[in-house]
Amino acid sequence: MLTPNAHYGELKDSYLFARIAEKNQAYSLEHPGVKLLRMGIGDVSQPLCPAVIRALHEAVEDQAKKESFHGYLPECGAPFLREAIAAYYGQRGVTLSPQEVFVSSGASDELGHILDLFDSGNAALIPEPAYPAYVDASVLAGRRIVHLPTDAEHGFLPDPAGAGDADLIYLCSPNNPTGAVLPRELLRAWVDWANQRGAVILFDAAYEAFISDPGLPHSIFEIEGARTCAIEICSLSKTAGFTGTRLGYTVIPSQLERKGMNLREMWVRNRTTKSNGVSYILQKGGAAVFTPEGQRQVQETLKIYKNNAKTMADTLDRLGIWYTGGKNAPYIWMRCPEPFSSWEFFDHLLREVQVIGTPGEGFGESGEGYFRFSAFGDPADTREAMDRLAVLLK
Ligand code: PLP
Repeated sequence: MLTPNAHYGELKDSYLFARIAEKNQAYSLEHPGVKLLRMGIGDVSQPLCPAVIRALHEAVEDQAKKESFHGYLPECGAPFLREAIAAYYGQRGVTLSPQEVFVSSGASDELGHILDLFDSGNAALIPEPAYPAYVDASVLAGRRIVHLPTDAEHGFLPDPAGAGDADLIYLCSPNNPTGAVLPRELLRAWVDWANQRGAVILFDAAYEAFISDPGLPHSIFEIEGARTCAIEICSLSKTAGFTGTRLGYTVIPSQLERKGMNLREMWVRNRTTKSNGVSYILQKGGAAVFTPEGQRQVQETLKIYKNNAKTMADTLDRLGIWYTGGKNAPYIWMRCPEPFSSWEFFDHLLREVQVIGTPGEGFGESGEGYFRFSAFGDPADTREAMDRLAVLLK
């Protein structure tokens, strides 16, 4: 008889967003017509920019004509997009070969698939609070997890000095949910730590575009030594509004080898076996993001979210509430006022001011006592939510 993957039984219930939705629904049933201000969502509220929409339309037309029709594309990504992404890194002083860039259908998919490269006997170090997919994907692969709690005293930044032994390390910067951004020196310490141990860092840069401070690294490959210990996973979801369109990319340097095996070459083999690539139409749309026109338009949209983050940060500053994020990240991670736990604070905000956020406890035990607000909402709702918060907590 077939044996299913027993590790599914070890997953914790994915109750966070389901429980939030349940509570919202119950409130709306009891209070029909009352508008809830949703500051908990990680999804974007603004549409794709005009340059991307035009490229998508043109690509559809290409597929309608024999002379411009595309069938299968190279599994690892269309050369035009791999080149555009490599050039984007080049603008920041990071030299990549297009062969080191792999086009994906999004960071979530890739965070799961990439584990194929590693033996399930490897231990995975996960700084927490964390994006829930890191823990769940590792559990499904039967991998031992080393939890690394972070705290307010250290700005929710993980430090290798306190880390247990591990082979695979998840780093996310700017971080979801804490909005904390790894400064250059700390990222260098992680790179050194990984190189010394022969470990590999999975660097999730899904929110790199929110960094405004020129001193902060967008990519782990801005750090010397990262080419021998890191894989970077990126997404156009939050940068360019591709949450529903689905496109991302992964960088694996050609020098990354362990036990005589080259991880980039292994990933080529993986993709050519397990994928037939991402659609031509989407890759054309994605390439438009990296044109000068696309970059200008994407920055305009990012400005809306950055303004939302500023509205939230200014409100918490005025209230004297401790938080991380908001300055180089689309998330604000605030300390819940006494005496509330994170779920109690959720209920309090819903009941008193109809504002929805995300309880920190849902991102791991070390998130208890904290609360996440997202900057991806509608600007008018964000202002209204913060005005209500200010009245409630003053
Ligand atoms: N990584 C982090 C840290 C995220 O917060 C998210 C989405 O919220 C993702 C990856 C997934 O991105 P994608 O939409 O490309 O799958």
